Amino acid sequence: MITCKDVSDTASDYLDGPTTLLQRFSLRLHLIMCVKCRRYMRQLKLASGLAKKITVPFEPSDEEIEFLVQKLRALT
Ligand SMILES: [Zn+2]
Repeated sequence: MITCKDVSDTASDYLDGPTTLLQRFSLRLHLIMCVKCRRYMRQLKLASGLAKKITVPFEPSDEEIEFLVQKLRALT
């Protein structure tokens, strides 16, 4: 499980380009649980001017949360 520090350390990499599926998954999972990092990512996204290029939603739906939780359970 990644920490808030990991998010801040890797957020710009994440916005800059391709990351591994595991990295994206870990980040998304953290963002679901952590409102601080969600805000941080949104601000970074806006600040970097990539808002239109980024298609990953940062406000996950209930279905998406359920999907990720089930994926996580399958991994552990
Ligand atoms: Zn966080």
